[in-house]
Amino acid sequence: PDMSDQNAVASASASAPSPPPPPPPLPPLLPPVLADDRVSVSVEACLKPSSTARIDDVRSAIERMLEKRSLSYIDGPIPVPLDDPFLTENVERIRICDTDEWVQNHEILLFWQVKPVVHVFQLSEEGPCEDVSGDGQLPSFNEWMLPAKEFDGMWESLIYESGLKQRLLRYAASALLFTEKGIDPFLVSWNRIILLHGPPGTGKTSLCKALAQKLSIRFNSRYPQSQLVEVNAHSLFSKWFSESGKLVAKLFQKIQEMVEEENNLVFVLIDEVESLAAARKAALSGSEPSDSIRVVNALLTQMDKLKSSPNVIILTTSNITTAIDIAFVDRADIKAYVGPPTLQARYEILRSCLQELVKKGILSNFQDSDHLVVPNFASTKEKLNMPEMQETRTKFHLCKQLLEAAEACEGMSGRSLRKLPFLTHAALSNPYNCDPSRFLCKMVDTARGELSEL
Ligand code: ADP
Repeated sequence: PDMSDQNAVASASASAPSPPPPPPPLPPLLPPVLADDRVSVSVEACLKPSSTARIDDVRSAIERMLEKRSLSYIDGPIPVPLDDPFLTENVERIRICDTDEWVQNHEILLFWQVKPVVHVFQLSEEGPCEDVSGDGQLPSFNEWMLPAKEFDGMWESLIYESGLKQRLLRYAASALLFTEKGIDPFLVSWNRIILLHGPPGTGKTSLCKALAQKLSIRFNSRYPQSQLVEVNAHSLFSKWFSESGKLVAKLFQKIQEMVEEENNLVFVLIDEVESLAAARKAALSGSEPSDSIRVVNALLTQMDKLKSSPNVIILTTSNITTAIDIAFVDRADIKAYVGPPTLQARYEILRSCLQELVKKGILSNFQDSDHLVVPNFASTKEKLNMPEMQETRTKFHLCKQLLEAAEACEGMSGRSLRKLPFLTHAALSNPYNCDPSRFLCKMVDTARGELSEL
């Protein structure tokens, strides 16, 4: 065979135009989810104290800014755009909220999957307004305008594993929506009483306040004004029961006045409700004047009366972990047990403490910035379990130490955990120029010492 011919054929076929390759699949022009399937994500924007801008204008400006943002959504701050003079003048910070659950299940939330719901608010700097007409020592109640500066950041600082915060938020949001839509309570029954119970120091009171703050922000277009009235049930039982009766009457008269203004959203926080049950029991057994039973009953009657007002949410806490024997409990719609922090929560609490100490310069940072990057619990666990990470383990020394510290703190309440870094610092022989690693070693010792004293 004539090889040159064959070559000619081969080269001819090589140079012949080959059939065009199939076109690559087009990237979807439209997001592959319907508009209705988008996940609602709250975006909160805090106005500067000096701002006098209209909330609606700021909201529209932020919505426009978000439209231009082709990024993924994850909980945390996003920068106020410097090229927008209106926003830089008026807005202090912007934060994406509530994506955690989604991100944990689906890993990522892209901009086209999101329907941002923008909430603009300004913090009240008024501080609490105390009523000290009780027994002359303990104030019988505190009143706050919400959202208050004092509760700023509280919600984010409380760490629970089981989706507790989201559950409470959704519950309260549904209750307010049902009310707003005028759902007939004879057909569908619900009320607006929440009871958080569990051991002391697990963050129940803080969670109630933080929830009120969150709701005041989330519902500010329906309720432009929000207040929180904090009542310590224990302090209602003064030595003079006749006084207590007057106190309850006075307190509820005040609350009633607030509630009558229909643009007001009112939160009533009753702490340590178990003291009501205790007072009643003591009265029945004859060890306390029967006046106290009247006070408890008056309180319950007043609460029932309040229930009919659509713009009130009653938040209560109890340190009794077993079943609470009190008529009141039946009235609560949501009863959530708030337990001591799990390993993951302890890790995250301590991680946030460590980051704060580095940020404020108490601990030196070898990472050369004011922000200490310590991976979160999930990625620490994952990395420590991977065999290929064994050699580079030193890199994860800090998270390993943090994990050990969290393990050493088993049995501590959230309150004790948040105090631990302070106690550790006070126990350091050389508190200046301490690095996070040395600090964590000391923290384990301090934790053991604290636990042995429990
Ligand atoms: P309780 O009402 O259950 O006694 P508090 O609300 O008084 O508890 O909690 C006291 C402090 O402890 C809170 O302000 C918070 O700093 C801290 N704390 C408690 N539990 C937690 C938690 N799960 N996550 C973060 N901090 C917590």
